[in-house]
Amino acid sequence: MDSCLFCKIIQRAIPADIVYEDNATLAFKDIRPQAPHHYLIIPKAHLKSLNDISADNRAGVAQLLEVAARVASEQGIAETGYRCVVNNGRHAGQEVDHLHLHLLAGRPLTWPPG
Ligand code: AMP
Ligand code: ZN
Repeated sequence: MDSCLFCKIIQRAIPADIVYEDNATLAFKDIRPQAPHHYLIIPKAHLKSLNDISADNRAGVAQLLEVAARVASEQGIAETGYRCVVNNGRHAGQEVDHLHLHLLAGRPLTWPPG
């Protein structure tokens, strides 16, 4: 998608601090971190949100969680703990319409979120 911010990051048209990449997934640091560790994990396929999951792409969506665990381990936050969040749609605060998993860690996180 030409106009999509995260597709541009995948294409390297916009810089990002990338921490992991494979054939289907990219993980990079959030530009406005809400915790000492804050990464975004995205499928390379442009899905707007969880509403776009189908039999054709569910493997790539499941891979987001696998990559989250891997990034957590590589960044040294697997044992202290981390939170994975998807803001899905307007009421959840989704600002970028390319499915992304937030990975937050590095401090005690309160519950429930706002
Ligand atoms: P959401 O509100 O769930 O759609 O989250 C979008 C996230 O993207 C926010 O946490 C932003 O800080 C982050 N973000 C926006 N632009 C960039 C960018 N160029 N590089 C990295 N993260 C970004
Ligand atoms: Zn996109």
